[in-house]
Parts: sequence; C-alpha cells; structure tokens
Amino acid sequence: MGEVRDDAAQISGDLVELRRAIHADPEIGLDLPRTQEKVLAALDGLPLEVTTGQALSSVTAVLRGAMPGGTVLLRGDMDALPVTEATGLPYASRNDGAMHACGHDLHTSMLAGAARLLSARQDVLAGNVIFMFQPGEESYGGAERMISEGLLDAAGSRPIAAFGLHVASGLLPLGMLTSRDGTMMASADTMEVTVKGRGGHGSQPHRAADPVPAACEIVTALQTLVTRRFDVFDPVVITVGSFHAGTASNVIPDRAHFSATMRSFSASTRTAMQDAAYRLVHDIASGHGLSATVDFVDSYPVTVNDAAEVSFAERTIAELFGGERFLRTPFPLTGSEDFSYVLNEVPGAFVMLGACPPDADPATAPFNHSAEAVFDDAVLADGATLLAELALRKLAA
Ligand SMILES: [Zn+2]
Ligand SMILES: [Zn+2]
Repeated sequence: MGEVRDDAAQISGDLVELRRAIHADPEIGLDLPRTQEKVLAALDGLPLEVTTGQALSSVTAVLRGAMPGGTVLLRGDMDALPVTEATGLPYASRNDGAMHACGHDLHTSMLAGAARLLSARQDVLAGNVIFMFQPGEESYGGAERMISEGLLDAAGSRPIAAFGLHVASGLLPLGMLTSRDGTMMASADTMEVTVKGRGGHGSQPHRAADPVPAACEIVTALQTLVTRRFDVFDPVVITVGSFHAGTASNVIPDRAHFSATMRSFSASTRTAMQDAAYRLVHDIASGHGLSATVDFVDSYPVTVNDAAEVSFAERTIAELFGGERFLRTPFPLTGSEDFSYVLNEVPGAFVMLGACPPDADPATAPFNHSAEAVFDDAVLADGATLLAELALRKLAA
C-alpha cells in the first residue's frame, strides 16, 4: 500500500470530474436529489454502509475498519447558493439563479475522495469513519437535521473527533491551510422588533402614541449597548439593516418595525447580547408609554474548535505538506457555519483551505458567495489526502 497522497494524485482526475459535474448542476437548500445521486454513484462499490436522509437529501456513509477502535467523523457540505454565476468557466452553472459560489462542490468531491482512499485501507484501519455529506449549510440548518436523524450514532459509537474543510476563493493563497484554537466562526442571529403605539394626526402627537421616535432611539441605543456593555476583545456586532414605519408625513403610524443581524464570538456573549437587547427595547418603549415585541430568529451558533484537535491537524499538515502550508489565523471569521452543531457535540477542527487560482491575487480575488468566485481544482487531491490522513492518524493514535 502506497502513501495516501500518492493515491490521491492517482484519482485526482476523477475528483476534478466529480467536482465539475456538481458545479455545472448546482442545487440549493435541503433537497439536492441530483447531487445526492452523483455522490451515491461516486461511493458505489466501496465497502461502506450508506444511508440517506429522511427530511433532507443527505448521505451518511460508514466505513468499518478491520480492527476495532474509535470513530472519526469527516464532513463535506453539498449545497449551492441563489447566485447567478458570472465566472465564464467552461463548467459554469447550467442552472439559472444557482451557483456553487461557496465551493461546497469541492467539499463534496474531496470527501468522496477521502472515502475512496480510506476504503482502500480498510484492512489497516483501527475503528470507523463516518462520512457526512450534508445538504442545506447555507442557512437551512442541514447539519442539525442530520444530527437529529442519528448522524453521530451512525457507526454505533460516538465520534472521538470531527473534521471539516472549507475552501476559500480569496484571502488565502492556493493550498494554504488555516485554523485556530477556540472560536473559528461567528454566531449569526436575527432580531425582529415591533414598537407599538397608537396612530393619529401628525399635527396632534399628544393625542397619539408615536412609535417612530422611540424606535429610532432604540436603534441608536443598541449601538451604545455594543460599545458600553461588551468587552472589546469578545466583540458583538448589531446592525439594523431594515427599518419601516408609516405611510405619510402627516400621519402618526400605529407601529414601527425594524430587524437587525447580531453576531458574536462566544456562546456566553451571544446569550448576554440577546438578553440585554431584549431589555433595552422593552424599557425604552415602556419609558415612552409604548409596548414592543422582540423576536429572535436564531441562526447558527459560534463555531468552536478544540485546541488539541487543531494542534493535531497542524502536525498532520506539517508532516504531509510542510509546515509552511499551515497558518494559525489570529482572528475568527465573521461568517457562520452549521458545522458548529457537530463541534458542539464532538471535539474537532474546522480548517480553511486556500483555493484561489494562482493567476489571481488572494487579497483582491472575488471571495466566496460572489458570482465571480473561482475555486481552483488543484486543491482537491490535497484536501482528500488531508481528510483521509486525519481519520487514519486519529484512529491509529
Ligand atoms: Zn457560504
Ligand atoms: Zn460554505
């Protein structure tokens, strides 16, 4: 049996082909039947226990090693975004209004590659590997649904570690890998606020209960809350992106509505931010003789890496590709990720992988979610190698 990396180079043509087939036919959300079909075809013939999801078109594959041991989970997400592709690539999206602009097509292909590389090593594998092919990462909560359908118990024993890779079309040079201890990605929630008063004539505000000035006061007070109540080294972001009230200059409306996105980088600060914002809205409204409703639409929790698993990934990367290929990023990313649900249950690491084309400048190349984002196929073999090696080495440890 040769090196995993050499075997990955051998199958890299297949990985590129799979990635481009998925790229050309992107699907959005929790139901990705054609993508699921391509994954099942790629896994066909491998010694895996394959199950598909009930509420979503997920694929969970379990590889049981010849020797007993723990379980490791590897994850790849499969969904595209509601973006109309403008890259002009020969394998660009054929589906109007859908594009693999976050590189999940590469994740799917790398995970299928890892399944193939590890299947060929079943006889030396001490334990099990769960391959998590996940729909609906882009705000559909696919990971949480897969967990509720039994993902973490798919191999019979809970995973001892979980790893996910995410490609970046900019920021990082091609092939560069980064991660960090603790918080890797932000939480993202939405707050919906309605301030309720009593409408009336604009010339006689004392006969009405005007919600507009109070709502404006709340919006500015939320910014004061951000700077006065939270540690600058555990920051929060509150942005009111939508504000609506009224119909005419001389009519006091019954209500004013606004919504805000709220980001934080620790679970405790996320809770504190919601509690504080809730109280602030109600108290300002009631101070003006008004009432208010506050609804939080929770999106994804903070993505938190385990320090020991980040060190393990760093060592593995250094041994496979050289230490200069790994960078400990000083700051978390302000995006959010639903791999956070897995990492809330299992220690693990989420690692970014640079896929910026070599002829582009990572500092200015269109980033993930852009209609012009281009992800270089050249990273596929290394990505599959890294996933497979993380599982192999973790189980051998
Ligand atoms: Zn994305
Ligand atoms: Zn993504």
